[in-house]
Amino acid sequence: MSETFEPGATVIPKPLHLLTDHELERKEQVAKVTTRVLRYLTGEFESRGFDWLLPVVFSKSTDPLWPDPGASIEKRVETEIYGEPVRTTHSMIIHKLVASSTAYPKLFVLSPNVRIERRERKDTGRHAYEFTQFDFELRGAGSEDVRELVEAVVAGLVAHLKTTSDLPVSFGREAMKTPFEVLDRRDLIARHGQEWELVLPQQTSRPVWVTNIPREFYDYEDPATGRWDNYDLFVPYYGEILSGARREWEHDRIVSKMERDGIDQKNFSLLLRLSEEGRIKPSAGAGIGIERIVGWIVGAKHIGEVQPFPKVPGVVYDL
Ligand code: AMP
Ligand code: MG
Repeated sequence: MSETFEPGATVIPKPLHLLTDHELERKEQVAKVTTRVLRYLTGEFESRGFDWLLPVVFSKSTDPLWPDPGASIEKRVETEIYGEPVRTTHSMIIHKLVASSTAYPKLFVLSPNVRIERRERKDTGRHAYEFTQFDFELRGAGSEDVRELVEAVVAGLVAHLKTTSDLPVSFGREAMKTPFEVLDRRDLIARHGQEWELVLPQQTSRPVWVTNIPREFYDYEDPATGRWDNYDLFVPYYGEILSGARREWEHDRIVSKMERDGIDQKNFSLLLRLSEEGRIKPSAGAGIGIERIVGWIVGAKHIGEVQPFPKVPGVVYDL
């Protein structure tokens, strides 16, 4: 599948010390939008009773990012500390499953994700090799609870940003209508073919949900129907800004999905042990890519534009 949004038109974002005065001004404006977005998201979740957890960088378990039709990892960063093998965080999904099952039934975390994306992805304009997720999880919740929460927060965020005339906000003045439409991935393939992920953002003028996406073991798959109870949020032009799901929690199902996917179970031993002991609880949640949501809001051509220190696949600057 071609991943280039505007073939040949990609301009790779430059580091701070090479920017013109005009580009530095834009960078500062984008930082002001980012600050507002972070303040709004954290404030909304806090006011709804979520606890704000601090992120981690090294762990024995991290997101396998497999199988996911969207994943494309060139290298996994694995090292050894104190004689133990560890990985840098791909996402905090495993931590969220354990945390929401134990001390933190409603949690969010601003989590640095390191994913060494294939270098060709520099041209998608949508991938960085380090980025930040606003990642949240809710014990006992279902997909609709999460979708309603996200719709309220995204619509509220857009309304909040529209009140500020001093910021570079790229969308119009009309209010964002909720609920967002929910589309099944199979229908999108029937309508647009395998390129649906590129076509959908160009065809929609409002955010839309896409459900039923086969991917990693931790998203819930209905054993009776084979339907995946997960959801991605797509926004106009920009594409996917959020992925989430209701989760698997039962040991046997997690094990059989890992076997099916060829996942090395020793990399998930704690999760497997806790689920065997019945200590993993049903939950649902999602992760919002901060750079993607800000990129959508400011109309950035490349996601690296909204990063103070761009982490563009294949391009390693000093900072
Ligand atoms: P995932 O669960 O893998 O879809 O990641 C959650 C969210 O993080 C996505 O919906 C995107 O908003 C964001 N994201 C994923 N990969 C990248 C990347 N390479 N660069 C920037 N943002 C990303
Ligand atoms: Mg995704």
